[in-house]
Amino acid sequence: MINAGRLKEEFIELASISSPSKREGTIARRLEAIVKQMGATVEVDDAGEKIEGNTGNLLARFPGNTPGAPPFLLSGHMDTVGPAEAIHPVVEGDVVRTDGTSVLGGDDKAGVVAILEAIRVVRERNIPHGDIELVLTICEEYGLLGAKNFDVGRLRAKRGLVLDVDGVCELITRAPAANRLTFTVSGLAAHAGICPEQGMSAIRIAAEAIVAMKLGRLDAETTANLGIIQGGLAGNIVPAGVTVRGETRSLSLEKLEAQTANMRRCFDDAVARHSVRVGERQYHARVETQVDRQYARLDVRDDAGIVRLVQKAAAATGRTCGTRGTGGGSDANVFAERGLEVANLACGMREIHTVNEWVDVRDLVLTAGLVVETLRLNATV
Ligand SMILES: [Zn+2]
Repeated sequence: MINAGRLKEEFIELASISSPSKREGTIARRLEAIVKQMGATVEVDDAGEKIEGNTGNLLARFPGNTPGAPPFLLSGHMDTVGPAEAIHPVVEGDVVRTDGTSVLGGDDKAGVVAILEAIRVVRERNIPHGDIELVLTICEEYGLLGAKNFDVGRLRAKRGLVLDVDGVCELITRAPAANRLTFTVSGLAAHAGICPEQGMSAIRIAAEAIVAMKLGRLDAETTANLGIIQGGLAGNIVPAGVTVRGETRSLSLEKLEAQTANMRRCFDDAVARHSVRVGERQYHARVETQVDRQYARLDVRDDAGIVRLVQKAAAATGRTCGTRGTGGGSDANVFAERGLEVANLACGMREIHTVNEWVDVRDLVLTAGLVVETLRLNATV
């Protein structure tokens, strides 16, 4: 049913188009042409202008052929992580891999191609399906910015699938909420050789906070990381300022809040231990903490309609499709937060975010077949 040759060719073509976050213009125009040729109407939103990219998100609408069938959302993202300036896919039979100098961009072109092939097949074969709304986002890899700036009020679908995770025949139903944290520590500058006792080292204070902190994997559901540290002016100046940036994520909101509080407390305690008198004046170290919710969690129950639909579709193709949680966020988190019933379907990408990335076209074929069956069942149940 799935045209493996066509799918493979399209994957190689799209993977070869460089599309780092904020520079998805070339691939967006190509995808726009492809879906128009397939019979969709296409709108491009203004998300690109808002985030200073060179294109917005695409919303393509394909009319259904089954009156009364509920509309269905399919979504993938057009951007990739780097290195992605030039991509030269290497084909070895059914496996497409990188030449070792860039990512392949199977994240998320594997998902995009599986979706396109599934839509082609249901239309060519007149398989029962409702209206299909295809959202191709920008800047997923850059803080889910495309999805966050997409107006879900433009969708009629209440339910659907994002295809954007490694593996095959698996459904991601749980993904963490994340907080982004920025700590700005203020100490006091002084000459490091002449009067270091008149200074307070912001670097030292930050170090005390960091060693007291729980980081890395905290439990099966929760992680925390400090990823950037910036501060100081010169080797001979006691540093007056340092900024530390990081994040924490958890599948549990209680644990997310507890870990955020722990990280905040470590900095509060560290600055509280530091003050210095210079002449008549007493100086106290300070910290300014900023916490931003990066995205909400994804938490779809195993008995939700979308899960039952995909599992039934998998069964119809002789497969099983289990559900699992992940430590990464995706556009599905954003769509779910805005009231859509979505899960994230594995789509065959492998060793993503590395220069060893590869896909097996047979996984893409399987995924496309599962999407075809999901669209058919969605129109018939
Ligand atoms: Zn992705």
